[in-house]
Amino acid sequence: MKFELTILGCGSAVPTVQRNSAAQVLNVQGRLFLIDCGEGTQQQLRRFKVPYTRINHVFISHLHGDHFFGLAGLLSSFSLQGRRADLHVYADERLQGIIDFLSRAMHSRPRYPLHFHPIGRDAQLLHEDKALTVHSFPLLHRADAPSSGFLFAERPRPRHVRREMTDAFRVPVAFMHRLKQGEDFVTPDGEVIANERLTTPAPAPRSYAYLTDTLFHPDHAEYCKGVDLLYHEATYGDDLARLARETFHSTAGEAARLALLAGAGRLLLGHFSSRYPDPSCLLEQARLVFPDTRLCEDGAVFELPAARREL
Ligand SMILES: [Zn+2]
Repeated sequence: MKFELTILGCGSAVPTVQRNSAAQVLNVQGRLFLIDCGEGTQQQLRRFKVPYTRINHVFISHLHGDHFFGLAGLLSSFSLQGRRADLHVYADERLQGIIDFLSRAMHSRPRYPLHFHPIGRDAQLLHEDKALTVHSFPLLHRADAPSSGFLFAERPRPRHVRREMTDAFRVPVAFMHRLKQGEDFVTPDGEVIANERLTTPAPAPRSYAYLTDTLFHPDHAEYCKGVDLLYHEATYGDDLARLARETFHSTAGEAARLALLAGAGRLLLGHFSSRYPDPSCLLEQARLVFPDTRLCEDGAVFELPAARREL
């Protein structure tokens, strides 16, 4: 039951030899979600051995090139490789026009069902399936390229039945699904058997939030309260706070403040300006505020193990 994030690119506007433009893959129980798709994402998917043909959902935070210039190429490669499965793209509604324009110009339409889903400016549910939900929420970036954050949250799983106990108390098969939801069992004699005696807890649901290309704002914490893993852009160090404000970006210290306000489990820093070949100074600044902070680098994998709930 994986919950694993692979960083494909953690650079900002200009890619460097060391850092690609923004892109990540989140693997939730075998489902692969691509988050942003900067230039060169295809090569990174191959380089880091991501089984990318299994990607069925792509989430684009906003329409700046370092977050979507790789998408047209990826869509084209899917066609060349004979993809048949549906692909869902969630983005600013203008992206569909851009992709349509390119397809027409090249006389080449995707040969698989391609579905665009516009992201609005209000928080919204973008996707749900049996394993998880994905919500978007508004961030604070340039008005001509509004940016959205994403929250990926596993659904709570049913409790595990203790077979030896349900046999001992002769719990009928028809009651099992209620037992898994936490109900107590009442025997035909009226004796109440506490659910905890008949089941064990399921692993706690895990969650991941992605916030990039945004000014710091404390309200953003409301969208990702208690998130296990938080990615927040740290384009600049705290000494460049003014530049961060002018360019609608955040500093490392601001990313850490957001993590603190959200009560996040762990903070990942990324979207580093190319002026930081070594971003360890950003890590130091963030850790003063939020100690459990890590730096992203291309190819880094962050896994959230499935932990048991407390009894
Ligand atoms: Zn960017």
